[in-house]
Amino acid sequence: MLNFDKIKNTDIDVYNAIIAEKNRQNSCIEMIASENFTSEAVMQAMGSYLTNKYAEGYPGQRYYSGCQNIDIVENLACDRACKLFGAEHANVQPHSGAQANEAVYIACLEKGDTVLSMSLNSGGHISHLSKASAQSRFYNTCYYEVNPETYLIDYDEILNLAINNKPKLIIAGASAYPRKIDFAKFKEIADKVGALLMVDMAHIAGLVAANLHMSPVPYADFVTFTTHKTLRGPRGGVILCKSKWAQKIDSAVFPKMQGGPLEHIIAAKAICLKEAMQEEFKTYQNQVIKNAQSLAKTLISEHINIITNGTDNHLVLIDLRQYGITGKELANTLDLIGITTNKNAIPFDTTSKTVTSGIRLGTPAITTRGFIEGDVEIIAKIIAEIIHNKCKISQEKSTKYKQIVEKLCRKYPLYR
Ligand code: PLP
Repeated sequence: MLNFDKIKNTDIDVYNAIIAEKNRQNSCIEMIASENFTSEAVMQAMGSYLTNKYAEGYPGQRYYSGCQNIDIVENLACDRACKLFGAEHANVQPHSGAQANEAVYIACLEKGDTVLSMSLNSGGHISHLSKASAQSRFYNTCYYEVNPETYLIDYDEILNLAINNKPKLIIAGASAYPRKIDFAKFKEIADKVGALLMVDMAHIAGLVAANLHMSPVPYADFVTFTTHKTLRGPRGGVILCKSKWAQKIDSAVFPKMQGGPLEHIIAAKAICLKEAMQEEFKTYQNQVIKNAQSLAKTLISEHINIITNGTDNHLVLIDLRQYGITGKELANTLDLIGITTNKNAIPFDTTSKTVTSGIRLGTPAITTRGFIEGDVEIIAKIIAEIIHNKCKISQEKSTKYKQIVEKLCRKYPLYR
């Protein structure tokens, strides 16, 4: 158990907020698809002595003295990232997923170059050069959508767009796509038009590590990911690339984009990568998918509309359009009974990003807690009932739902 007594003695206000957050995590059902609960080993590394060290540069080539221990840690993280994913080169310094993506753009694009990426509504991420990102000002970005009928990635349409727009870079990977992505097909398209391929596997890195999703590494010039989602590590980013891009990627991260690396976080990344090599991690990821599929199946049997009618991965996207409620309303209602989710745009959504017509649910965090299919069915039935009642729930129902949430949380305690 982690001990926060020193914080308590130094700053009671921050201490109180930390303990309140611990209690919130313990007593709520966390269904945000991009969140997870790290191990205490990962948390300890983040609060370790390494936080004190400046280490601009890379192992063996630092701009500061005294980096011998830091080099050990960073080399471990890089070697493990390469080994786990079969990559030729790894840069573990990006402070976040968005920064990992930005470094790839800096490494391989010139101002005005054309990029083809997935639109936000179809499930892409802001950092895939959506119009909301500052980086999009520098490039000529065009976007692909999922198929308007099936909501699946339409590889023929992407090929057409690639032929017509001649992008220098094609970006694959998503924040809200519930199905498998065929990276071999993306590579075929990229080769046909002479484009580079970047895959952002932030959401599915844990599934890829456990061999439960096709790896993008053999196909993509660059693979980026965050370590804090399905991979269950610290908040941060990693870039994998072919050796021929190693020097350009490294110089894009430092000195072009960042200053000193966060070596305490890099130590935590090394630990989470080691954890991901263990057999138990594979069992965990298998359960993540089983739970997501149980969630989808139960929602469907309760007549709830799911984008693509199911899931292959860790997330489920509910289409709320036919029920007369918004993603915002549903997320707020679920929050009141202790189920934490996020409103999310669905393909071809016409509502604003702050309202949305969808809700995204994920199983990585609850699976870490120990939830299995039967538990997920209980949650799915509550969510379905609330949707059918258009978020209008009586005091009596609200009390009943809260009791069910509390009981499930007590069954699988997170922190003592
Ligand atoms: N890439 C994808 C696919 C994501 O879903 C996210 C965040 O959710 C990011 C990148 C950004 O990661 P970060 O929040 O660490 O910048």
